[in-house]
Amino acid sequence: MEDERVELNDLYREILMDHFRHPRNHKILNGDAMKVFDTNPLCGDELTLSVRVKDGRIEDVAQVARGCSISQASASMMTDLVKGKSKEEALKIAEAVKALLTQGEPQPEDLIGDAISLEGVHKFPVRVKCALLAWMTLLQALKGGK
Ligand code: ZN
Repeated sequence: MEDERVELNDLYREILMDHFRHPRNHKILNGDAMKVFDTNPLCGDELTLSVRVKDGRIEDVAQVARGCSISQASASMMTDLVKGKSKEEALKIAEAVKALLTQGEPQPEDLIGDAISLEGVHKFPVRVKCALLAWMTLLQALKGGK
């Protein structure tokens, strides 16, 4: 697999591969859910994110990610983490993961959960955008939405 070049530690690799093989919330929400489509042209990753926010809380969130394993795993982790959270909490999580990915700033595991496994990605600039796609799309959806 192409991502073998990314040297993540074994535990983190396992978490990542588990999300890749068993993607969480892999669907498109219908009805009044907000839908955002975004891509990472550098790698060819695509993501359709659907979010339903009710009373300031993420009632439901789903993803259909296509592309490399890192982008798909990251989208799965993202939905898993923010589902049921308030919009503010979700924004905080997304900003924390963004700082981890783009600056390598360590983040507490109790805040970012399985996304801690993306820790090593910032050392591989070419993969940062793969991992970042899900989180940037979420920020776009939450900031643009009600
Ligand atoms: Zn990618």
